[in-house]
Amino acid sequence: MSTAFFYEALPMRVSFGAGHRAKLADEVTNLGLQKVLVLATEFQKDLAHQISDSLGDLSVGVYAKAEMHVPIETAHDAQEFARQAGADGFIAVGGGSTTGLGKAIALEFGTPIIALPTTYAGSEMTPIWGLTAGGVKKTGRDPRVLPTSVIYDPELTLSLPVSMSVTSGFNAIAHAVEALYAPDASPITSLMAEEGVRALIQALPKIAHEPGNIEYRGEALYGAWLCGATLGATTMSLHHKLCHTLGGTFNLPHAETHTVILPYALAYNSGSAPEAIQALQRATGQNNPAAYFRELSIRLGAPGSLRELGLTEQDVETATDLATRSPYANPREVTPAGIRGLLLAALNGEPVAPSDSGPSRAQE
Ligand code: NAD
Repeated sequence: MSTAFFYEALPMRVSFGAGHRAKLADEVTNLGLQKVLVLATEFQKDLAHQISDSLGDLSVGVYAKAEMHVPIETAHDAQEFARQAGADGFIAVGGGSTTGLGKAIALEFGTPIIALPTTYAGSEMTPIWGLTAGGVKKTGRDPRVLPTSVIYDPELTLSLPVSMSVTSGFNAIAHAVEALYAPDASPITSLMAEEGVRALIQALPKIAHEPGNIEYRGEALYGAWLCGATLGATTMSLHHKLCHTLGGTFNLPHAETHTVILPYALAYNSGSAPEAIQALQRATGQNNPAAYFRELSIRLGAPGSLRELGLTEQDVETATDLATRSPYANPREVTPAGIRGLLLAALNGEPVAPSDSGPSRAQE
């Protein structure tokens, strides 16, 4: 192989399989932990108590106040709760919000996290933390927040409603799409990305049809794992920048925003990322992956426009300004006119252009 690349494998144990949450006590003991605190959202409190009960004396209890985007007040409250309980490790049972709370605690204490994901968001595979203070979300990378161990138990995703399964699945697909054209992409991450997209686009329609099928749930979770791993291993570009801006500034819902934006961001970059497009064509079996993602997500009941999520034309101006203020990696040049056009098309749910063109970074 003539391609040169750099790849850093992230240290992480993965246990995958239906019913594998029963292995949690062994995992806790193997890591030398004696007093773990189980984290969850209020909504998943009962599940958290079941997990805590299954751990017996290894658990010091449940903290079920995780919230989207990790408000700093919640992080401080959880840190104080953990300090008083004498916790030496954390079990994050839930989606990205719960894993995010575990990361916020690990950032302060350096304590290990065991994640049991219940959505397809992929946070459990990354050293990326996020904290929101005064309405502004800050993110960063720190190896201390990467979960030490992840137990993927598809049974924990059976309760995820179809609508959330679809948008969470597209959230995962978006990680893989941007990993394929990332400046630090490698053959390893591209393999994971292509396989992750393939697994998810095959699983999601089957889940929509039969949400209680554990095999389909397993396929989707496997795809989400691979997509999450690519998020942890590469640098994200325009799509994630736009979603971060729309979520942070306009409080748009996370997974739905990813689902709506992905086809437009991919179409914007398509002409400048030919190898990524080829990989996505192989993964989807479709000539125009951007248009296909839009068609599939809408067919499975996902929202098709930013307007449906509450954005307005005026917000597009602010978002364009915020998303073009500072430079970041992207295969195609990011211009205010280009981003305004992209966001207006997404606002109104316009058909996705076959393959937009524009000068790529490499050609500038
Ligand atoms: P979430 O964790 O906010 O979950 C949304 C809701 O669904 C919550 O009420 C939750 O309790 C519920 N839920 C979760 N799993 C369920 C299940 N199996 N059955 C029924 N209900 C369930 O949603 P998310 O999309 O997983 O996470 C979004 C957050 O994660 C955002 O804040 C995002 O920024 C962050 N995130 C971070 C990273 C990272 O690498 N740091 C990656 C992806 C997402």
